[in-house]
Amino acid sequence: MEYIKSKIRDVYDFPKPGIIFRDLTTMFKDPRAMHIVGWDLAQLYRDKGVTKVVGIESRGFIGGAILAYEIGAGFVPARKPGKLPADTVSASFEKEYGTDTIEIHRDAITPDDVVVLHDDLLATGGTMAACYELVKSMNPRKIYINFIVELSALNGRKNLPADADVRSLIVY
Ligand code: AMP
Repeated sequence: MEYIKSKIRDVYDFPKPGIIFRDLTTMFKDPRAMHIVGWDLAQLYRDKGVTKVVGIESRGFIGGAILAYEIGAGFVPARKPGKLPADTVSASFEKEYGTDTIEIHRDAITPDDVVVLHDDLLATGGTMAACYELVKSMNPRKIYINFIVELSALNGRKNLPADADVRSLIVY
């Protein structure tokens, strides 16, 4: 885990003053770190009967697809509005400036699915909370929540459902 952490780049004052941006691109470009992340994510869910991994646009697509492949699940993209071509369900949520929306294909999740929701990083939890409500409305058997990185100082977990199973690989 220390190896993965050592490959994450801290970018100060991005995208605005005062923010430390945890840049995972430097970790994703490292073959050994990619291998470890894939393995460690998979270890969290191997015995859970997971059938679908939902990755949140866009950085959640990378780890989400790796996790899905490793555990033999399907991959479902949760996307920004207007990107998915077929019938979608959507959820809106508050961001610092205004609202944002995510969409999933209506036929992407069925009631017999066991789902992992994946994003690269938990900050305030707003994005994941909206994704959780969206997927929950599709009535899967079980929903797990997963991040590679969790920023504990922002206490994003308090914005996620209290009974949700939330797991992350690295906590700052
Ligand atoms: P939130 O909805 O506040 O939990 O924001 C989560 C999303 O914003 C994730 O998809 C992250 O990629 C991105 N994000 C927010 N804060 C940071 C940060 N300090 N470093 C890197 N990514 C961030």
